[in-house]
Amino acid sequence: MDVVRSQPQHGWIEVITGSMFSGKSEELIRRLRRAQIAKQQVQIFKPLVDNRYSEDHIVSHSDMRMASQCVKSSDELVKCVDDDTEVVGIDEGQFFDANLPAACNTLADRGKRVIVAGLDQDYLGRPFEPMPQLLAIAEYITKTLAICVVCGDPANHTQRLVASSDRVLVGATGMYEARCRHCFDPTLAAVEKV
Ligand code: ADP
Ligand code: ZN
Repeated sequence: MDVVRSQPQHGWIEVITGSMFSGKSEELIRRLRRAQIAKQQVQIFKPLVDNRYSEDHIVSHSDMRMASQCVKSSDELVKCVDDDTEVVGIDEGQFFDANLPAACNTLADRGKRVIVAGLDQDYLGRPFEPMPQLLAIAEYITKTLAICVVCGDPANHTQRLVASSDRVLVGATGMYEARCRHCFDPTLAAVEKV
């Protein structure tokens, strides 16, 4: 008798969250690679806004990379997921719209293992929507920490080094660094009034 491996009956949501440089993308790529090695059907997505390194790959700061699809919205993401896909990886979750938690719920309810990586705080240390909402509904949460470049303590913050009040400021290297709560200084990013 042939044993046909069918779609798992139950899905769930995993979230990997922390500051920049804390290893979120590396951890996401590690989990997705293991799933691929186990011959599971994997699809990987990132939001269109983030084209820092590569249009069609998720890329870590240590240059680990995996092919991915760019999507404009959470709704588009749900539509792009194939029926036979077992694992859905999503990077830069903080750049998605407010429907991301609902989209992940839909996919998990369809039996998919959904893994989302994203920043939990913005450059001022404020919760970065929609990640808090996603954390509330996830089955599994991994908090990653970087190393503070000033003192070496565990770094929970993303320090912006250039003056800008844009919440989303992607691009040049050297614009951000990882810092602990003691060394984090949100006023550094303040735009000077003329
Ligand atoms: P994230 O997705 O959280 O921004 P990445 O997975 O892209 O993080 O990159 C993690 C890598 O960043 C580390 O393995 C290391 O090579 C590099 N890195 C750069 N600065 C730091 C730092 N301050 N602390 C830890 N890792 C750092
Ligand atoms: Zn520090």
